[in-house]
Amino acid sequence: MTAMNNPQFQKDLPSSATRDARKSEKSSLQPKISLFGRWLETLAHLGLGELTLRIGTNVLSVILILSVVWLMRNVYPQAKLNGTSGALAASQPTATPTLSAAAIPAPLTASQAGISRLALPHTSIPSRPRMDVITYTVQPGDSVFGIADKFGLKPSTILFGNYANLKDTPHSLRPGQELNILPVNGTYYEWQAGDGLNAVAKFFGVDAEVILTFPGNHLDPDNIGDYAHPNIQPGTRLIIPGGVREFTSWQAPIGVTRDKPALARVMGAGSCGKITGGAVGFGTFVWPTPTTNRRVTGYNYSPETNHRAIDLGGKIGTAIFATDAGVIVYAGWNDYGYGYMIMVDHGNGWQSLYAHLSQVNVACGHSVGQTELIGLMGSTGNSSGPHLHFELMNTVYGKVNPLEWLPAP
Ligand SMILES: [Zn+2]
Repeated sequence: MTAMNNPQFQKDLPSSATRDARKSEKSSLQPKISLFGRWLETLAHLGLGELTLRIGTNVLSVILILSVVWLMRNVYPQAKLNGTSGALAASQPTATPTLSAAAIPAPLTASQAGISRLALPHTSIPSRPRMDVITYTVQPGDSVFGIADKFGLKPSTILFGNYANLKDTPHSLRPGQELNILPVNGTYYEWQAGDGLNAVAKFFGVDAEVILTFPGNHLDPDNIGDYAHPNIQPGTRLIIPGGVREFTSWQAPIGVTRDKPALARVMGAGSCGKITGGAVGFGTFVWPTPTTNRRVTGYNYSPETNHRAIDLGGKIGTAIFATDAGVIVYAGWNDYGYGYMIMVDHGNGWQSLYAHLSQVNVACGHSVGQTELIGLMGSTGNSSGPHLHFELMNTVYGKVNPLEWLPAP
């Protein structure tokens, strides 16, 4: 129904001349009067009078106020409650899950939980130092030096981390080997039953705390218990940051002389019995290889990789000479990587060693002269190609760098 169709409203239109004349004092208010007001006005027009209008206005005002109060107290808070509870209801499963106390894991104590992590919504990988041991597969052409360089480690750390594979010598390196690459320089130790933390630390020259707190070891200092009987499972492999040790090796012992050739007995079948007499050296040395084969092609002398020798390249069958006069104190097979090997005692505190030979031309107790042919170059034993592994050792100086004692090539 529109105003124009309602006869009542049509009558109230300002255009009505009769109405203007009759109620001139109200005509100015006419556009602002509400529907309710117009109804009251109609009542008055019907003769109910001014009194009715006043009472009605007051009563209506009271009703209006009470209505507002009632709305505020009841409808509004309820709507608010309905709003929140409605949202909750939507997000909740229809059936309320029940949990028994036993099914809830006991809260971890601070010590059990270890390092707590912040629940980050984004996975951010910070550039931080590696803490765990990784594996590297040896590639053709790799050397212990090259691998160490690749990971920013000392060559000794590569050997220390891989005793099972490398037996403390770079000669054991072979393509396809899986090497442990420690995160830091140091040693790698497999925990044994009965080990004490302080003793192990002392063995490698570090403090127990260094081992205990290194993140890559995943040990809990709070639960380690007594250092003498620490809570570490036998077989656990521990990184010893900064740790060092002597190389335990298959290397020929120093001091294998004609008086004590049995020292080399542990090395294999080539060991000799006691020898009396024989040639004595000059104390000067010549190259054990021909002039065409005086280049280090394999490992150089490097105590840090436990290679206290030089590797001279050549073809299989290249002549090998005695570097000085002396007596053969070892001639034959070696069980620990040297392959066919010869040791000469020069009788003056010096000994020399020739390894990976393809042929041994001398026997135990033979006296040989300087430059005398004693065997042929080969690739036997722990060798990745034809070369002579040549050691020069002194009962006082130990294994020296042959390049510092040989003449210019
Ligand atoms: Zn060598």
